Amino acid sequence: MNSRTGETGVSVTSGEECRAIFSQAIGENRTYLMEHECKEILESMGIATTGFLVAGSEDEAVEMSNKLGYPVVLKIVSPDVVHKTDSGGVKLNLADEDAVRAAYGEIVGAFKYQHIIGVAVQKMADPGVEAIIGVTRDPNFGPVLMFGLGGIFVEVLKDVTFRVLPVTLQDIDEMIQEIKGYPLLKGYRGKAVDIDALKNLLLKISELVLTFPEIRELDLNPVFLYPRGNMTVDARMFVSPAPEAVSQQASGNTVEQMRTLFYPGSIAVLGATSVEGKLGYNVFRNLLFHKFAGKLYPINPKSESVQGVKAYRSITEVPDPVDLAIVLVPASAAVTAVEECCRKGVKIIVVETAGFAETGADGKAAQEKIREIIKAHGCRLLGPNCSGVINTHVGNVQSIGLVEELGKGNIGMTAQAGVYAAGILTGLRHVMNFGIVATIGNKMDISETDILEYLGSDDHIDVVAMYMEDVKSGRRFIDVASEVTKKKPVIALKGGRTAAGTKVVSSHTASLAGNDEINSAAFRQSGIIRARDNEHLFGLLKAFARQPLPRGDGILVITYTGSLGVAATDTLYLNGMRLAELEPELKERLKGILPDYVTSLNPVDYSFSMDAEQLRKTIELGIVSEDVGGLIVVLQGEILGSFVDTLRSIDYKGKPILSCVAVKEFMMEDVILMEKAGFPVYSTVEMAAEILADMYRYSLRKDRQAQA
Ligand code: ADP
Ligand code: MG
Repeated sequence: MNSRTGETGVSVTSGEECRAIFSQAIGENRTYLMEHECKEILESMGIATTGFLVAGSEDEAVEMSNKLGYPVVLKIVSPDVVHKTDSGGVKLNLADEDAVRAAYGEIVGAFKYQHIIGVAVQKMADPGVEAIIGVTRDPNFGPVLMFGLGGIFVEVLKDVTFRVLPVTLQDIDEMIQEIKGYPLLKGYRGKAVDIDALKNLLLKISELVLTFPEIRELDLNPVFLYPRGNMTVDARMFVSPAPEAVSQQASGNTVEQMRTLFYPGSIAVLGATSVEGKLGYNVFRNLLFHKFAGKLYPINPKSESVQGVKAYRSITEVPDPVDLAIVLVPASAAVTAVEECCRKGVKIIVVETAGFAETGADGKAAQEKIREIIKAHGCRLLGPNCSGVINTHVGNVQSIGLVEELGKGNIGMTAQAGVYAAGILTGLRHVMNFGIVATIGNKMDISETDILEYLGSDDHIDVVAMYMEDVKSGRRFIDVASEVTKKKPVIALKGGRTAAGTKVVSSHTASLAGNDEINSAAFRQSGIIRARDNEHLFGLLKAFARQPLPRGDGILVITYTGSLGVAATDTLYLNGMRLAELEPELKERLKGILPDYVTSLNPVDYSFSMDAEQLRKTIELGIVSEDVGGLIVVLQGEILGSFVDTLRSIDYKGKPILSCVAVKEFMMEDVILMEKAGFPVYSTVEMAAEILADMYRYSLRKDRQAQA
């Protein structure tokens, strides 16, 4: 290895030479690069390191030390040693020639049974704020960048943050500000670190890993951060032959294709039947019952008609073109069915039948065969093993379970499992209106990303919900979601950690990157709101679907009981919101409305004496206030019904209002009246306050994106 030091930070090694370093390591069956190799690569990118000099003898070590100037550091260089400090491979702060000679001897002695390349000689770096920067690869999202502060921050507090690569400057900004140790970087007691240099370093690492897919994982641990610049003191890279780049591009014009899935002009149902209880009965029944706004062709080799509609023995016998085919025939017959659909020129095939890749080798083979067929014909396929889609706006209800009457709503939703989606629809149809629900099943072809991209462009849909178990299209998911969240809120509930979470890890970064951390990072990065649980998800959906976004962080709380006012206040402040301050003139007017014994003007606490008229006047005053960005009203359940008409008659001037009815379960009829009138009802005021904060955060991000 050559011994050029890159201390000047000038690029001395070309990309070709970097690649040669990787090839050599991979050729020697090594899975990682030694520190000096890493630093040579880093220096070539203009990253400041403690250098990559390697001495082959004691005398050479002394000579190098004399040139560098004392104090120096000596470190073992061996392909067998990953963690150098363990077992005495790092000697710090060597003040003179004697110390260097002694340290050299100790290192060589300690590792005499290992293959020693030499001993690294480095300048002792000035102390700084210790940081760790790393990259690991996530099976779903590909390379992920990590940043955190070193020492106890990372070891004990796990104070690190992640972003999927490539990152933007905005992502890096957020990463730096997101860690709990950020105040240390910003400066305390007059010390601050060079944040611009840190950002630059993070960007360069992102660039490096994208340029060299051979880098599977990377740790810079530690990097010293200084008031001016920074210094990479140790580096480690785990390498493997560059994986073949998998195309994550959408195949063709996804949005147009998905439009056909949701708004087909005609649907053929293969396996439709008049025999009650069969799936082929239910699906066809749903399409008829919900008055699908297009042509329907039941396909059944044994019947002249199905549920009163003329049937065909095969899809190829249908005289007119068919946009979409739903396949319900058993898995064994599905391959032929798909082939016939393709020959007919169907654009979208929905395979609801189960018994494919989820069941074993035969099913997997059938699924592969189907994949080839649709690829050859350029058509798209939803499923297999799903419950189709629902588009209430055109009565396109493909569900395998019978679905009762549905409202036409503005919520779009994707779910993996059909049962989950059906359960939600049935349970929530009184309080929430869905527009589109898509179940993706085994997502052999059409994925949640395709659906998400489409929902972003559907004018009937104002808010998107995603119930996901795994993310298939990785980076494309982030790119698509980032675009959609600029237009409408996307709320995800992610369950079931994948087996990938238990993979064997090698780098420090990988060990810190639990699967779920990466999911959270990916969601944050793309502006997706992550729901904690189902209740939070539905709470968010109701609010986003029915109410405008808060105009500011000041909230007016109107309550019939003080304690819930306190709870609302606490939650607002905990979530970065605050109580609004009414203008003096409005305060005077409010005092005129309130009973004498009421003193608090926000929360306005009526102490069990609030009637509909007082509520109306109070809300109207609040709406006028410049400082009120949104409202929370806490209503007494026993008299909830008396408020609904009044609430409905108010002009809210674009400000959101969320309500809380404690123990709402006992007055569901009135709660449903409220919900139908467009007022989301929560059983806790904390939930209402938290969701208002979620909405405000989303609106801030949306504004920021619009300006960028
Ligand atoms: P390991 O392989 O054990 O991670 P490092 O190279 O990170 O070895 O060295 C261990 C510690 O020694 C570092 O965390 C850092 O605190 C200190 N250190 C190593 N090299 C230097 C250097 N050149 N200047 C100052 N401190 C150093
Ligand atoms: Mg280290």
